Amino acid sequence: MSKPIRVTIWNEGQQERNQPHIQAVYPTGIHQVIAEGIASEDFEIRTATFYDDNALGLPDDVLEATDVLFWWGHRLHKQVPDELVTRIQARILEGMGLVVLHSGHHSKIFSRMMGTSCNLSWREHPGGERERIWTVDPSHPIARGLPETFVVPKSEMYGEPFDIPQPDHLVFLSWYQGGEVFRSGCCYHRGRGRIFYFSPGHEAFPIYYMPHIRQVLANAARWCASPHDDGVRLEGRHRPEALEPIATQSE
Ligand code: ZN
Repeated sequence: MSKPIRVTIWNEGQQERNQPHIQAVYPTGIHQVIAEGIASEDFEIRTATFYDDNALGLPDDVLEATDVLFWWGHRLHKQVPDELVTRIQARILEGMGLVVLHSGHHSKIFSRMMGTSCNLSWREHPGGERERIWTVDPSHPIARGLPETFVVPKSEMYGEPFDIPQPDHLVFLSWYQGGEVFRSGCCYHRGRGRIFYFSPGHEAFPIYYMPHIRQVLANAARWCASPHDDGVRLEGRHRPEALEPIATQSE
């Protein structure tokens, strides 16, 4: 068997600690539920949270040993140190994958990689509302094993306009009961790294227990990991010797 994909699942982890109704949904934390949900022989999974001592659980040696980083954040985006964001960005540019989840659209690392505000419209209807997800690119590896369409029965609405650069691939598109639509599964290439944003995952609803959602996340980990296969890094090259003779222009 080829080397396992080293996945690090980072979760802010605040609301599971402080809010009983969130704790009731995710008693072990969103990171643990995602880790259990995507567990597979080809993954080597570790988790980290905002409350871990060393660099929020992401010191250099952990980032170096990470092929794909998952990011779930909401309330503490501003407290993530810029220095950590810079280190994550450097790892992405050299090939680490990044999977940004739900309210991670406003995380420092996502807006750093996008270069836009990443603002969207949203609504938290009491009791949630139905989200219908359409697999709009069934040929994409992240769509593997997913049906043409599936439903999240209770969701928080994330709607257009979503201020992101045009995705390199759009894999999922969502419709909400209240009428909005949203680009809910977006792929990007940045340097040698691959980035996938996936919006379902509001903390008050048990969305990360759903088999289809888990399938998306496992597929995303595999897709985001592959630039690492050849180990090539994109580096600046000074090439003083031309490959072909350059004829000097006559005056
Ligand atoms: Zn939410």
